[in-house]
Amino acid sequence: MDTNFEPIHIVWLKRDLRLYDHKPILEAINSKKRVILVYVFEDILFKDPHYSSRHFNFIKESIRDINKELKNYKTVVCLAKGDIIKILASISRKFKIKTIHAHQETGVMATYKRDQQVVAWCRKNRIAFKEYLQQGVFRGIKNRNNWLKKWDQLMNQKIEKISFSVSNFIPLKTIESFEFYLGEDTLQTESKGIHQIGGYQNAYRYLNSFFNYRYRNYQKHISKPDLSRRSCSRLSPYLAFGNISMRQLLQKTEYERTQGNKSYALRAFSSRLRWQSHFIQKFEMECSMEFTSINKGYHQLKKTINPYYIEAWEKGNTGFPLIDAAMRCLVETGYLNFRMRSLIVSFFTHHLWQPWQACAHFLARQFLDFEPGIHYPQLQMQAGVTGINMLRIYNPVKNGKEHDPKGVFIKQWIPELRMLPEAIVHTPWLINSFETSIYGFKLGKDYPKPIIDLVKSRKKATSTLWPISKSPAVRKEGKRILSKHTLANRNSLMT
Ligand SMILES: Cc1cc2nc3c(=O)[nH]c(=O)nc-3n(C[C@H](O)[C@H](O)[C@H](O)COP(=O)(O)OP(=O)(O)OC[C@H]3O[C@@H](n4cnc5c(N)ncnc54)[C@H](O)[C@@H]3O)c2cc1C
Repeated sequence: MDTNFEPIHIVWLKRDLRLYDHKPILEAINSKKRVILVYVFEDILFKDPHYSSRHFNFIKESIRDINKELKNYKTVVCLAKGDIIKILASISRKFKIKTIHAHQETGVMATYKRDQQVVAWCRKNRIAFKEYLQQGVFRGIKNRNNWLKKWDQLMNQKIEKISFSVSNFIPLKTIESFEFYLGEDTLQTESKGIHQIGGYQNAYRYLNSFFNYRYRNYQKHISKPDLSRRSCSRLSPYLAFGNISMRQLLQKTEYERTQGNKSYALRAFSSRLRWQSHFIQKFEMECSMEFTSINKGYHQLKKTINPYYIEAWEKGNTGFPLIDAAMRCLVETGYLNFRMRSLIVSFFTHHLWQPWQACAHFLARQFLDFEPGIHYPQLQMQAGVTGINMLRIYNPVKNGKEHDPKGVFIKQWIPELRMLPEAIVHTPWLINSFETSIYGFKLGKDYPKPIIDLVKSRKKATSTLWPISKSPAVRKEGKRILSKHTLANRNSLMT
């Protein structure tokens, strides 16, 4: 047989950057044909407004980890840049591709369209394209009648062991001969800011320290802007880019729950893991959420873009300390806890009265854990446009006093406010002339005056949104959404 046309299997890696609990890899290895693992840095993602260099760095770090292990088998991830179909076509000029294995992805419109093109290309070229589930998200379902049962079954499945050997893989030498192969130098990253580092070794580092001791204050600190950074698991980017699978994490959590007296503390964590799939399933079934509000009754809501407000918010210069600290922290580190994410979106959509669409891309680029299926449903929930969740307009001053009483987080991210005492740090606009002189702080010069009136803007948002929420169009849509997405034992946070 002509070696150039050896039959091979391809594993197309996307947001599943690990080697274990990986059905596409397992099936490819079980085929007994040689395998190439391919990752393409796709032009569609470089151009996509949801992605930024922090995501590509995380991906590179993740692949570096995989390559360390693949070295034992004398191969590497075949790295390419450009268009996946062109790369597949190029490989097919050297090998007979029998099957392409990949995980099903619930992504943004750009990746959905690309997946459809890959399916069409495979059909045309008589190549099998097999997709597998990784998140407990089921394509094509009409409601949630059996969702939980199916999800439980998938997550409780025994994790099958994968054993590798050198003979399983197309060797490094051949991969290096591909004209499109980028080489391992591509995986070098320049660290900008203080981000979590990708890769399954780091995922396990975070996982182990969480279950060993960090979990103890999980519930107590979950809403605290600074303390949550230690007491929450911080596993979100590792889940988003698949350095660890949800099944691995859930099974580990169940094991830990049965050890010692961790059960109570880990219950809240365990239910949040389920929310991940729940929200992604919702997005899978309502992909227009990337562009428009899930509840069509809110399409009548028109807001005018104010570039001055948006810039102040993005740069952390709104004059509201907790909002500004959260924004500056997010831009620098790529992470905020749930409460702070809710707060900044609520402020943007309610107090600044901006459409949620105007912050969606910016936030996606900042969140290192950007996961479209959580991002869009959460954005819309916080913006109050679902018609099925309680309208919450968070007060940044009240939240600051409650969750950062001494202003530790605020002062960490806003050095301009460090000289102010606790009593003033949450409301610097209330400083009097005596305090101005003793603290050497001038409002409007050292730190901006508030860009809006908190009370008036809240009133305007409530008085506009309340009547709309009672309108027949919103109610009708609310019923549709509930019947499509509610689980049998509904938890209010899971709709
Ligand atoms: C506007 C907005 C946008 C968000 N965008 C994202 C996103 O792009 N990616 C993302 O992973 N999370 C997102 N979240 C949810 C949540 O804020 C993060 O999952 C959480 O803060 C991550 O930190 P952690 O891993 O330490 O969480 P932990 O509390 O330790 O939770 C463990 C895991 O459970 C899941 N989880 C926790 N809370 C939620 C939730 N409310 N909804 C769904 N899943 C949850 C996540 O996978 C998380 O990693 C968003 C929330 C809001 C309000």
